[in-house]
Amino acid sequence: MTADFRSLPSVDRLLTDERLRRAQAELGAETVLAAARAELDERRGAIALGDGATTFEAIAESAAGRAYASLRPTLRRVINATGVIIHTNLGRAPLSDATIAAMEAVSRGYSNLEFDLEAGERGSRHTHLESLLCRISGAEAAIAVNNNAAALLLTLSALTPGREVVISRGQLVEIGGGFRIPDVMRQSAATLVEVGTTNRTYIGDYAAAATDQTAALMRVHSSNFRVVGFTASASLAELVSLARERGLLLVDDLGSGCLLDTRRYGLAPEPTPQESIAAGADIVLFSGDKLLGGPQAGIVLGRRELIERLRRHPLARALRLDKATIAGLNATLLHYARGEATRAVPVWRMIATPAEALQRRARRWARVAGRGATVVEGRSMVGGGSLPEESLPSRLVALPPQPGAGVDELARRLRANDPPVIGRVEHDRLLLDPRTVDPREDAAVVKALAAALAAT
Ligand SMILES: *Cc1c(COP(=O)(O)O)cnc(C)c1O
Repeated sequence: MTADFRSLPSVDRLLTDERLRRAQAELGAETVLAAARAELDERRGAIALGDGATTFEAIAESAAGRAYASLRPTLRRVINATGVIIHTNLGRAPLSDATIAAMEAVSRGYSNLEFDLEAGERGSRHTHLESLLCRISGAEAAIAVNNNAAALLLTLSALTPGREVVISRGQLVEIGGGFRIPDVMRQSAATLVEVGTTNRTYIGDYAAAATDQTAALMRVHSSNFRVVGFTASASLAELVSLARERGLLLVDDLGSGCLLDTRRYGLAPEPTPQESIAAGADIVLFSGDKLLGGPQAGIVLGRRELIERLRRHPLARALRLDKATIAGLNATLLHYARGEATRAVPVWRMIATPAEALQRRARRWARVAGRGATVVEGRSMVGGGSLPEESLPSRLVALPPQPGAGVDELARRLRANDPPVIGRVEHDRLLLDPRTVDPREDAAVVKALAAALAAT
């Protein structure tokens, strides 16, 4: 069937359709008019390319769908079946039920955010997190801000303005999304002094670079990459002792905020804030939403007098946390204080799940899918700029290309599902990893799979 422009209805005619009339009542005339115009424009474009044969029905249906879609929130839930646990593009750490409940409770109504219930007078929002952070880490004082980049900016702005901060060339990390640690540091008006080479930096390099203009030595955990082979770096103990000797601060940016021992799960050791504090670091920085498994935040641990200076700096106000995040971080930290993090914090529950436990779920998904779906051995990644070379053994569902749909098309259909299901394509197979899917979402995955394959 060929089509020409005359086969398209007018906008006015289209708007008389029952579906579009209903949409107008629900969404307003302007939204539906814009959707109808956009739909007709697209059909015109298709006809110009020799395509676009269609019916009035199909155009009206599609225009109505377009109108509803235009007012749907753009940020929505997706199901992460990629097997990357801390997936930055998919929102990093999923939160525990208690964390979500705490965030909801303070968001719905009022709270004692800055109110001392005992004294009946003004309080401080900082009190809700500090003692818990100190108790878990052994630090003297703590403050939490918007994210770890903010924690770094605040630390250097408050403690080393106009002075030099010595850092190894091997630790000038790009976090991702084009954001580089040295660029964040430069915003603080501190002067970066780079020492050593990409692969080798010795404690003597720091010692030689420190002058009377130097305020701090800085260590940045190379969280998202590994330098292997002919390498050397100064240990934390060496840096702390040099800093003490010269009257400098030792700032330790850990990135991930890993409070548990990763070796228990067969992973490489990840430095912990507790170790840094115990080793004598003056300031320790990390994210709230990487291995800590909480909401987005940046945490600064350190000596009382230093944290006090951070708190009084004007940037502290600009970078402060909102009440929902404070409540959420509080609830997540309580899981650690109660010794229940492996069970309660989703990131750690996912890390701790043995491959055998995933086998059963993968089998069920594959059975429903049919169409040549198999269960294969594979690996899940920790992700989030932590443990770059590390993976966990998993069991994945592998979907082969279908007669009417290659693996990219299958992946697209799963992404178009509501909620979208995100997998990964490898060696012409679509892989779905149950490790990063909450078992409560299994029914939704199975339904999405059935729908995607039914259309082939
Ligand atoms: C991820 C990371 C950051 C940035 O943390 P955000 O919370 O994303 O701002 C800073 N430093 C290191 C070493 C990191 O790994």
